Amino acid sequence: MKFWSQTFIPTLKETPSDAEITSHKLLLRAGLVRKLGGGLYTFMPAGLRVLQKISQLCREEMDREGGIELAMPHVHPVENWEQGPRWPAAREIMYRVDHAGAGKGRSKEPEFVLGPTHEEVITPLVKSEITSYRDLPKNFYQITTKFRNEIRPRYGLMRAREFIMKDAYSFDATDEGAVESYHKMKRAYTAFFNRCGLKTISVEADTGVMGGSFSHEFMVPAPIGDDDVVYCDASGYAANREKATSGIVPADLADAAPVGALEEFATPGVVTIAALAAAPYGVPADQQFKTLVYMGDGKPFLVILRGSDDLEEAKLGALGFQLWRTATPEEIEPVMGAKPGSLGAVAGTIRNPTALAGVFADHAIKLVGNGTTGANKDGFHLRRVNVARDLAITSWGDFRRVREGEPCPKSGQPLKIARAIEVGHVFKLGTKYSDKFGAVFTDANKQSHPMVMGCYGIGISRTLQAVIEQSNDADGIIWPWSVAPWQVLVVNLDPQDAAASEMAKKLAAAAEAAGADVLVDDRAERPGVKFKDADLIGLPLRLTVGGRGLKEGIVEMKWRAGKDVKKIPLADAEQIIAQAVRTAAGLA
Ligand code: ATP
Ligand code: MG
Repeated sequence: MKFWSQTFIPTLKETPSDAEITSHKLLLRAGLVRKLGGGLYTFMPAGLRVLQKISQLCREEMDREGGIELAMPHVHPVENWEQGPRWPAAREIMYRVDHAGAGKGRSKEPEFVLGPTHEEVITPLVKSEITSYRDLPKNFYQITTKFRNEIRPRYGLMRAREFIMKDAYSFDATDEGAVESYHKMKRAYTAFFNRCGLKTISVEADTGVMGGSFSHEFMVPAPIGDDDVVYCDASGYAANREKATSGIVPADLADAAPVGALEEFATPGVVTIAALAAAPYGVPADQQFKTLVYMGDGKPFLVILRGSDDLEEAKLGALGFQLWRTATPEEIEPVMGAKPGSLGAVAGTIRNPTALAGVFADHAIKLVGNGTTGANKDGFHLRRVNVARDLAITSWGDFRRVREGEPCPKSGQPLKIARAIEVGHVFKLGTKYSDKFGAVFTDANKQSHPMVMGCYGIGISRTLQAVIEQSNDADGIIWPWSVAPWQVLVVNLDPQDAAASEMAKKLAAAAEAAGADVLVDDRAERPGVKFKDADLIGLPLRLTVGGRGLKEGIVEMKWRAGKDVKKIPLADAEQIIAQAVRTAAGLA
């Protein structure tokens, strides 16, 4: 048992002004963390206990599915990252380590970086240690600190610069093996989040061409989430909005026949879809083509959407560029021949089509069939533009952002959208990293093959806060039994009274013997303060001992999640408490 006076739980009466969301406020008010700087937090003793418990549950579920724990360095030689497949994109969020002598002979690059994740370390490790199919499959994991220079660290531990992650990496000899490893991890994640008392939904983050989906995110529905989950109750379809599709374009939609010859018309000053939709032009947004210019690895490319649709930028990831961004007007004009607002993808109107890395059309423009688009001449548009006849399309894809109420791709029922927080991610990588690092093995016939990999992350510190976000009331946190810093709080109202102190210890010992972690509030504080703090720090079971109760021959028992305060006779107290602890632990 731990005495409150001998640990440090600095509770706060006032809500800190810089905390916006409930869980962040409670983290600070319950004395679980303290802020060092933006996205940087100290885990205070009680917070550290929760972190350790969550880590341990994660470890148990990883081990159950065959995970092998190790610990890799936080400081990585930059060469590992330069050799890997994502240095151009990843370097943006990586901290570099400066040290005396840094930069000698290498003026531009750092020599060391802080690890945001560890594919670039584990893959070369496995390459040098494992060479035969006999040593596969393997799944290595660690629970450790990650560093990311997030553009907007916020909401406490939710998006921090330094945070705790469980990351795992599987290596298989075959694709089927990798799929099996993937499913093991999905199972481990489901079990882990259940044990944390956290309700999550797993959503498709990417749909593999093979028909199966090999990227799932584990999401906690919450209004403050950074992600949108698109889902359908009827079919069970659930996907991150970044990847979600809808059934708005039937798969067998044929090309519309042309309705006449192309015609240019003057649209002075019209540079938006809305302006062209308004009088005097009156071209409905869904009868227009929207032409966007992006830069992919330094080369411009076009995306064509319906005028009424928005681009889901993450979907451009399917095009295979390392980095992409919107093109500037200065980059656009020399290629297209016009400024934004008068752009189009009609063949023959683009000034320098060979400069383009491609023209990518969203499937939904087939719903337009014949429409209006910019003429690549400032102040002019073209009408009767036929998709098949006129547009210079390189390839088709799904680039539009799904809207609430559109038909589910599986059931046709209206899709719903909700905000959510990502707490975990499972991903089948394939051979992207093993190819780059030469992580190969020899099979039974001495043939060499790249290992098939998967990577799997859980935000341990984010999970801690997500539990609070999901489990609280106006008075404070309501910890699930499994992750509570302590499970039983013995409130001693009269710590200067020897009999009360003796009884508090006796009850604490009984709870402890039954398997609970126990905190005894022995502080010389008023009862009001103690009860408020008890609710705030949210331990599942509260026992109250005081001089008055002892005279009456009772102690009080109350569950944090309930309302009833039960008086239990002293004679039975130890037994009743032990029973309560065993029941709660059994249910957890
Ligand atoms: P996000 O989209 O939230 O930035 P991510 O896609 O960058 O997440 P991964 O690289 O897959 O995340 O990392 C695995 C897990 O680590 C995530 O599921 C999330 O729970 C957690 N995580 C990622 N970034 C942070 C952060 N800045 N602070 C706290 N936890 C994080
Ligand atoms: Mg991120």
